[in-house]
Amino acid sequence: MRPFIFLRVFRINQCLMLVSLLALLLGGAYYPYAVAARERGAVQAMSWSVAGKVIMVDPGHGGIDPGAVSRTGVLEKDINLQIAQRLAAMFRQAGASAVLTRDGDYDLADREHLPGLTNRDELQARLGLADKHHADIFISIHLNSYPSADCEGAQVFYHPRSVESFRLAALVQQELIAVLGDQYRWAKGADFFVLRDVKRPAIVVEAGFLSHPREGILLTEPAYQNKVAWCVYAGVVHFFAGQPAPKSPY
Ligand SMILES: [Zn+2]
Repeated sequence: MRPFIFLRVFRINQCLMLVSLLALLLGGAYYPYAVAARERGAVQAMSWSVAGKVIMVDPGHGGIDPGAVSRTGVLEKDINLQIAQRLAAMFRQAGASAVLTRDGDYDLADREHLPGLTNRDELQARLGLADKHHADIFISIHLNSYPSADCEGAQVFYHPRSVESFRLAALVQQELIAVLGDQYRWAKGADFFVLRDVKRPAIVVEAGFLSHPREGILLTEPAYQNKVAWCVYAGVVHFFAGQPAPKSPY
């Protein structure tokens, strides 16, 4: 019996090894292995471009304002903050000064205690922080939501008045397509309040649809959040390195 048991144990170990190897390979689909080594290397070699820059990272919503809410109760404000924190860490590692508009679950206008203040006042407080810190660029992180569950994909928005905001948006969108796969979406002009202040290039990154059954779950996963953050980081690195706006593949 003993050799037989040994054989079975050996087989189980072999299976476990195979599972581990598969997990490693599948896990490798995510950051920092998510991105082809050549692309990762190219971005890291160019990371000097962000050193010394002041980058405002703005996790949308917070406090009394949850943003979009998924069918399972996931709140947009929480995912926005998680992605923003991952992104800020990447910038800091590259020698940039990344400043978060909020680093917890609160409302910048304290509307819980000051109900007279509007959504616009709250957004103005975020822009005020960008001024206070003399930010070079402003990046707002949000999630999309739509009544139809079919909508998916990340999309970057910019104000049509700002050529540099468009260049930044297109460079980030290009990375989102390269890393997350075809998104069938391209950088889009929008008259969002936080984009109107064109003192500095500003974008809103809608990292995906919380309302989509698959994407909504992916967005809660740390590995996927790192992939999204990496795309924004890589786009910004290309932006400060002076790369021209790419053309839409769609
Ligand atoms: Zn939002």
